[in-house]
Amino acid sequence: MEELRSLPKALLHDHLDGGLRVDTILDLATTVGYEGLPATDEAGLREWFHQGESGSLERYLESFDHTLAVMQTAEALERVGYEAVVDVAADGVVYAELRFAPAFNTDGGLTLEEVVAAVARGVQTASSETGCVTGLILDGMRQMKDSEEIADLAVASRDLGVIGFDLAGPEAGYPNDDHAPACLRAREANLPVTVHAGEGDGVHQIWRALHHCGALRIGHGVRIIEDTTVINGEITDTGPVASFVRDVQVPLEVSVSSNIHTGIFPTVAEHPIGMLYRAGFAVTLNTDNRLMSGTSMTTEFALVAEHHGFGIGDFHAVTRRAILAGFTPWPRRQELLEKVDEIYLDLY
Ligand SMILES: [Zn+2]
Repeated sequence: MEELRSLPKALLHDHLDGGLRVDTILDLATTVGYEGLPATDEAGLREWFHQGESGSLERYLESFDHTLAVMQTAEALERVGYEAVVDVAADGVVYAELRFAPAFNTDGGLTLEEVVAAVARGVQTASSETGCVTGLILDGMRQMKDSEEIADLAVASRDLGVIGFDLAGPEAGYPNDDHAPACLRAREANLPVTVHAGEGDGVHQIWRALHHCGALRIGHGVRIIEDTTVINGEITDTGPVASFVRDVQVPLEVSVSSNIHTGIFPTVAEHPIGMLYRAGFAVTLNTDNRLMSGTSMTTEFALVAEHHGFGIGDFHAVTRRAILAGFTPWPRRQELLEKVDEIYLDLY
């Protein structure tokens, strides 16, 4: 595990409200007087969050009520942003894109702009301290009506380190097309778009995200496997959407633990990550929600090493792929790529 921790990693898909430290939640709950936590000691609370591993999406989503409850002041948001970068950097992450839905952080009276500014302060401080290159992505929520406003906010927040716009939230019953106008606003302002799709709903959502929303990457996207033919554990044929995703090399922000915990696949061994990777899809490895899934990039690396045979060359490939797919200005990523190549090539 320690050997994997030392490998340089790139993280494209990590939610700020899904990655808080347990002791920080307790601390902030005391500060803001939030009394709704399901446990008041660190061990009990950690265990409660990890019960999200039960495979129930509802239970998984409920846990965000508690993290968001303590993320309503500028001080709290700055701290959470800061600690997220410190924590992923300690896990070997050299490039991190962190995302959040600012509309969920205004209950305490902050404006959307103040929310983004507070997070950005924490992230930038930790980025300077650790050397981890970071970028922020703002999430519009599919179940809400304000996605265009959030897209405009993302465009207006580029100076604060916002590098992209995302659609998140429940998928079934919420077609991505409904938010195509928001994605268009971001794209017309030359801000890249990624969209959660093919997680809680099928291939049609990936198709909508790509062609109606102009997504350059897909969050999760793992249900693209439903548009392939699998024989003896390998993809032998691809349907029209899967062919497009593979041939255009659309980066897939795959989060194995998260997919198990939300019940999309029963076990890590049955997750299609290995098949997709071997069939040439542009897969990357991600944490999604470090707290709820009790995971880290090192853990994700370890899981695919154990269950899908990934080795050093594969970790190098997915890390390169993630850096190539990043939304941060290219010169910074090019520098990173050279650094990462040097380290991995030494290990072969
Ligand atoms: Zn996500």
